Amino acid sequence: NREWHLLSRPVGWPKDEDFALVEAEMPTPGEGQVLVRNKYLSVDPYMRGRMSDAKSYVAPFELGKVMQGGAVGEVIESNAEGIAVGDHVLHFFGWREFAAVDAKTAVKVDPKAAPLSTYLGVLGMTGLTAYAGLLRTASFKEGDSVFVSGAAGAVGSQVGQIAKLKGASRVIGSAGSDEKVKLLVEEYGFDAAFNYKNGSVSEQLREAAPDGVDVYFDNVGGDHLEAAVGQLNLHGRIAVCGMISVYNNTEPAPGPRNLARLIATRGRIEGLLVGDHYDLQPQFVQEVGPWVASGQLKYRETVVEGIENNLEAFLGVLRGDNTGKMIVKL
Ligand code: NDP
Repeated sequence: NREWHLLSRPVGWPKDEDFALVEAEMPTPGEGQVLVRNKYLSVDPYMRGRMSDAKSYVAPFELGKVMQGGAVGEVIESNAEGIAVGDHVLHFFGWREFAAVDAKTAVKVDPKAAPLSTYLGVLGMTGLTAYAGLLRTASFKEGDSVFVSGAAGAVGSQVGQIAKLKGASRVIGSAGSDEKVKLLVEEYGFDAAFNYKNGSVSEQLREAAPDGVDVYFDNVGGDHLEAAVGQLNLHGRIAVCGMISVYNNTEPAPGPRNLARLIATRGRIEGLLVGDHYDLQPQFVQEVGPWVASGQLKYRETVVEGIENNLEAFLGVLRGDNTGKMIVKL
């Protein structure tokens, strides 16, 4: 049973020496627990935050101990009612091959209803983030024009497509490569997209959204946020989902210089934490599930194989190696 430990808190970009793949004992499931052989592990940008010990909404990973994260696996031993050997469960003990999991915290998932990896992505946490963030935090309504950054990623690609399916007047995305930009327009149906590495974000957004934006779904922060404030329409809304451009900063990044525009626009800016929105999960699955099944909502996954590559997959998310959800397959 191999598992990834955090050895030291990364300063700036995480380094290989901050982590170790450790051979650990096989866990024994106690009363009310199941033993799970993990099949798919999630790696997510928020994990960078848990590697630091700054006070946050979730406790830091402990040094010298196995890290955590979303995972889906098969039950190979059960001491719990309601979950049998052979069942598949979604749980929170990733970064390892085997886990003893409290049945109460495990969610049964059906590999016949959808591919197992999708419970970590398009039908899972990142999907719900997109759905709740757009519909609830950003109060999206039909006819809105929507700008989303990180648009070829797990959350962003779903935000843009849900907005389109729900009648957005225009959907604009930004991403970090020309290939990703092409995917947004040609496959996901975005009306416009640009590569933020090709020039000024403000200028490129102005060109892509000449009539301004009603909703900005922020995955990136920094100059993207400033550009969006600059293009915000009257009563525009900004949902702050993530700010991946600053996660490895060692000093706080300067904020947008144009926030006074919020007065003229009566703009609203609001943070979003997916954990607050699990009441929407049934509605999310009911509405988005059929779109995924019918192909109306498309998704990609970048799959990295092997527990030994779990760390590299995580670093890859920070670098932008992924298109869609980054998944580790064991
Ligand atoms: P993604 O699949 O979008 O992967 C992250 C992407 O960020 C990369 O692929 C890369 O794409 C992009 N990126 C990396 N560095 C930069 C940078 N400096 N500037 C612009 N883009 C960059 O991850 P997720 O979909 O899982 O998460 C997206 C965002 O949502 C993150 O900020 C994450 O923290 C946040 N999040 C927040 C949640 C909440 O509850 N608030 C829940 C889930 C996610 P590219 O090639 O385009 O640069």
